[in-house]
Amino acid sequence: MAANDPGQPALSSIDPSTFSTNHAVPTRALAVGAHPDDIEFGCGGTLAKWAAAGCVVHYAVLTDGSKGTWDVDADAVALVATRQAEQREAARRIGAAGSVTFLGAVDGELENTHALRDALSRLIRIVQPEVVLGHDPWRRYRLHPDHRAAGFLLTDSIVAARDPHFFRHHFDITDLQTGQPLAHHRPSTLLLWEADTPNHVEDVSATLDTKLHALEAHASQFESTMKATDKAALTAFRERMRARLGSLGSPHGFAAAEVFHLMGDL
Ligand SMILES: [Zn+2]
Repeated sequence: MAANDPGQPALSSIDPSTFSTNHAVPTRALAVGAHPDDIEFGCGGTLAKWAAAGCVVHYAVLTDGSKGTWDVDADAVALVATRQAEQREAARRIGAAGSVTFLGAVDGELENTHALRDALSRLIRIVQPEVVLGHDPWRRYRLHPDHRAAGFLLTDSIVAARDPHFFRHHFDITDLQTGQPLAHHRPSTLLLWEADTPNHVEDVSATLDTKLHALEAHASQFESTMKATDKAALTAFRERMRARLGSLGSPHGFAAAEVFHLMGDL
């Protein structure tokens, strides 16, 4: 697959022995993608592995996905509804037991705004994830503006969620689960997919098929993203994904892997 295929970075010459391996299964994780399908491409195998081990996986999708078609006559309203339904089904296939939140920014026009940082940092304070996963905003030579904006929106929202003097109106909200007011929350780890400089690897040998099954819930994207316009092309897509994740895993002794840039000490 090409270097800028969705979700996973180009193979690098970084010494595999410097990578950290297989983060401890968190109690709660939150994955934040720009579009429906980004999360499955970026970390679907890792989320499926953690969900099977008891992690409550939550999803947040920042844009409405309304430009995700090559059909110039497409009905954008219908496409948004279709893509939300596909995303919910993909999350179900991953085994995500948490929430699926759509923040509703216009596809292709995502910006790191005060209003979206307010919404995303509030979600982090509600979900209280130990691990957050998202797009690497520092990935070089990336064309799609939403992926870049999504990365910075997430890193800035982690800072806002963590520090008690950001968005103090959140503390007026009562958590429906606990009956307590929302509190500031500091995740322990951020995993960035499409990493410019990968330094962490997750073995997804056991959940590669689940990742593919979840990706295939995004049927509206078969033509534009997966180049899978018929059965043979869909088979070829699966083989490309297997080969790609296999080549990411082989330096680490895994049959299939997803790689990330891990940031701790948030
Ligand atoms: Zn995307």
